Amino acid sequence: MLPTVTITARGEDRIRSGHPWIYRSDVANVVAAGGETVRVLGPRERPLGYALYSDRSEIALRLISTGDEAPDLNTWRNRIQAAADYRTALGIYPDEATAYRLIHGEADRLPGLVVDRYGDYLVLQALSQAVDRLMPEIANILADVVNPRGILARNDPRVRVLEGLEQKVEVVYGDVPPSIEVHEGNVSYAVDPYRGQKTGLFLDQRENRIAAARYARGRALDAFSYNGGFALAIAPRCSQVLAVDISEDAVAKIAANAQRNGVTNIEARAMNVFDELRELERRGERFDLIVLDPPAFARNRAAVRKALSGYKEINLRALKLLPPGGYLVTCSCSYNVSEASFADVIASAAVDAHAEVVVVEKRMQGRDHPVLMTVPETYYLKCFILRKL
Ligand code: SAH
Repeated sequence: MLPTVTITARGEDRIRSGHPWIYRSDVANVVAAGGETVRVLGPRERPLGYALYSDRSEIALRLISTGDEAPDLNTWRNRIQAAADYRTALGIYPDEATAYRLIHGEADRLPGLVVDRYGDYLVLQALSQAVDRLMPEIANILADVVNPRGILARNDPRVRVLEGLEQKVEVVYGDVPPSIEVHEGNVSYAVDPYRGQKTGLFLDQRENRIAAARYARGRALDAFSYNGGFALAIAPRCSQVLAVDISEDAVAKIAANAQRNGVTNIEARAMNVFDELRELERRGERFDLIVLDPPAFARNRAAVRKALSGYKEINLRALKLLPPGGYLVTCSCSYNVSEASFADVIASAAVDAHAEVVVVEKRMQGRDHPVLMTVPETYYLKCFILRKL
């Protein structure tokens, strides 16, 4: 007999609306331990399917099936295979890029599991108790399906603490070197899978970097540059690129990446973007293309208001630095800030900057990070390409 969790009528409604998460407040009764796969019952004992149970997270249940049959390791294998097949069908590897997201959690029906591919290696994150518990089996399946040389569990994100899980980084299969060489288009990177941000690169921006390059010319500014992703993608079409990041470490990475790609027109500065944008404005400098790719300003709902004023500030300053005909590539990766509120903020920044602005492209995270239609939280990265009239 499988462990069982009974949920409330409100929880049942949520499942019916297609959302796979049941919050703790909608759980009525638990006969299960954290990390177990459980049967989910409605208020009148009606079977609703199967879910992964967490005894710590506010997200108590992550639904994995609404069917009659209990999921087993074959379910995991089939879904991992399907996720890998989809990425193969996208045709990213190896010409377009050798690094991409292989498994994107809920959107691949593998809640709490993230896997990125860096060439011959995989870097995974187990973000729920159940996935953590199944780690050895999941690593075996991945080794089978993808045949990598090594798999690193990059289990140091903060969300693991909310699940009561230890933060640790360990090799779970084969060997993983301290530096992996990958490429995105013509740009090559040395990725540090053990210590780089996220799993090493911001893979979700790959297609937006390609898009940004289409508008690149003259002098460009890449604000919140990290290791220079946008700067490197646009540099071949620009006369000069200024890349700004607050972290000295990131700035060293930008310089090293420019050098390894033989790019000589990128200048990297360790500065706070908020200060630097004001300073550039004070000096009357102009940029034909500006990229704004800040970290998530709103990490929870309470932070949304402050986040919106941060987004407004940088967009307003950036619009002032553009000459007529200049382009702004502006992003938000806060899942708590909807596309509509982000668009509102940009519009009000444009009004305050006395800029008339048209939307040239509306973009999002790359196709290897698909959005689950019924889970708005999975549409986290918004990207507008704007042109100043
Ligand atoms: N554009 C990058 C990803 C950027 S991630 C890419 O395509 O890969 C966000 C970056 O913003 C981080 O590197 C972080 O160090 C930097 N950052 C955060 N706050 C900042 C600030 N106030 N000023 C400048 N950089 C900041």
